[in-house]
Amino acid sequence: MKKILLKNARVVGADGIDEKDVVISGGKILKVCESGEGEDLLANIVDEKSEVTKAADREEGSGEQSFKIGSESDAKSVRTDLGGEGLMGHSLHSCLIIDCSADDTYVLPGLIDAHVHFREPGLTAKGDFASESRAALAGGITTIFDMPNTVPPTSTYEAFKEKVELAKEKCLCNFKLFAGMGGSGAPRYGGANSNRFGFAVEIKKIAKDKKLSRFLAGVKVYMGCSTGCMAGGVDGLERILVEKSLREVPVVVHAEDQNCLNENVEKFDAAVPASHGEARPVECAVEGVKIACHLAKKYDRPIHIAHVTSRVELDVIKKFKDEKVTLGRGLAKEDGEAVTSRGAAKKVVPLITCEVSPRHLFLSDEMYGQFGHLLKVNPPVRSKEIVGDLWNAIYDGEVDIFASDHSPHTLGEKGTEGSGLQGHFPRNAGSCLGSGSGLRPAEAGLPSGMPEVQTMLPLLLNEVSHGKFGLKDIVRMACCNPARIFGLEKVGCVADGYRADLVIVDLGEKYEITRESLLYKCGWSCYEGRVLKGRVKKVILGGEIV
Ligand SMILES: [Zn+2]
Repeated sequence: MKKILLKNARVVGADGIDEKDVVISGGKILKVCESGEGEDLLANIVDEKSEVTKAADREEGSGEQSFKIGSESDAKSVRTDLGGEGLMGHSLHSCLIIDCSADDTYVLPGLIDAHVHFREPGLTAKGDFASESRAALAGGITTIFDMPNTVPPTSTYEAFKEKVELAKEKCLCNFKLFAGMGGSGAPRYGGANSNRFGFAVEIKKIAKDKKLSRFLAGVKVYMGCSTGCMAGGVDGLERILVEKSLREVPVVVHAEDQNCLNENVEKFDAAVPASHGEARPVECAVEGVKIACHLAKKYDRPIHIAHVTSRVELDVIKKFKDEKVTLGRGLAKEDGEAVTSRGAAKKVVPLITCEVSPRHLFLSDEMYGQFGHLLKVNPPVRSKEIVGDLWNAIYDGEVDIFASDHSPHTLGEKGTEGSGLQGHFPRNAGSCLGSGSGLRPAEAGLPSGMPEVQTMLPLLLNEVSHGKFGLKDIVRMACCNPARIFGLEKVGCVADGYRADLVIVDLGEKYEITRESLLYKCGWSCYEGRVLKGRVKKVILGGEIV
């Protein structure tokens, strides 16, 4: 494994930016030291191990070689594909030095995306672990948590185990998986999970299995229906919260109240894409958040609210902001052993945490005319005014994390491909629709969701140039907080001993998001055509440049 030195790197943390040298070895960040000290440090490590290294090197047939770090004079500098001025990398044997001193170049921890749908198994026409994780890495995301609404759903011990094996084999970045309840396809496993109340037994089995529990991100509860029909409703959420032996397992809630959705469902008219917003109004999300927060309080159990869409939902959450829960103390034990995926150390955590997804920040409901059903997501995109308020809440630090909710569907499934009413929407209606494609307004079962994982960080970087929002906020919300909330250790921060998952970005570079640049299997994005300032230049995953 290569040693890497990031020289004169502007390292971004949740509190600010420091110029440092970052020494990477053995897949970890060995040392974050003062600028200029990195080369000496690296030379010392190499000296200590030189005998071994030389022997190994001879075996490879490269003969006598010094492992002294190259000085400026002997550096046969190789321009890395970073492209930017001054971003030189020179590789000397097993050491790679990357000079990060160029203007606008910053080093961030690799992002942790706590909410993606990579669609495998069973829905691989939309995406799979290989394709979507490649896109994630291209977008600076080095860790993902995959959602359970696949086919079969990840709602049994067996399904979870199979999915772990699949992801181990194919996922190119770090991963954890959510378990869920019920869902379409569940009968394949039948038994304990054939109804939603059997699922807690399955989750316990996963959480107790040491080999599997380290891949368990948490439990996802859908209060309202969405892709995969995994809705557990209020009683499903209550069922998991009441389960004391699962107290340490994070619970993520899709908080749209099903009763409210039922009352509004008639408002959806497939011929009018914007009607999706009326069928799933803000009120349903607010109601869902209210119920979820009160249940969390009732059972003294932390929950994480997925994809908050408005200020009103945040106002509900705000009422609980001083509520804390102590974890890791007096764990309920079953068969003599407490089950945990969050580590058993005692800690006090907030009762409620929440996330916002890029679609609710960078898209809004006046874009239905441009994108049609491509814009259909759950919960729906909101008005420009609501989006503005949500941004203000982010500037005020009211949102814990950014998570992409990457949820690809093919253009065909979105009803924008093949025969149909071409020209129903304005031609050139965003490159999303592409030329020669049209919508079939009468298409039944138009799925909700859109790809986001490759563009989340670029869109956020672009926002930094507007000034109200800083790189440190991105690091806080997409690295530190997800690691803290979901109990990940030694990731999400550029610090000694942490996993060497890093992203080098150029805040100054301007470019356009083109369809060709997208690595998604579904091949489209509602952000195509956007010109952004700020680009992901290089990603280091576990000490390797990818
Ligand atoms: Zn989702």
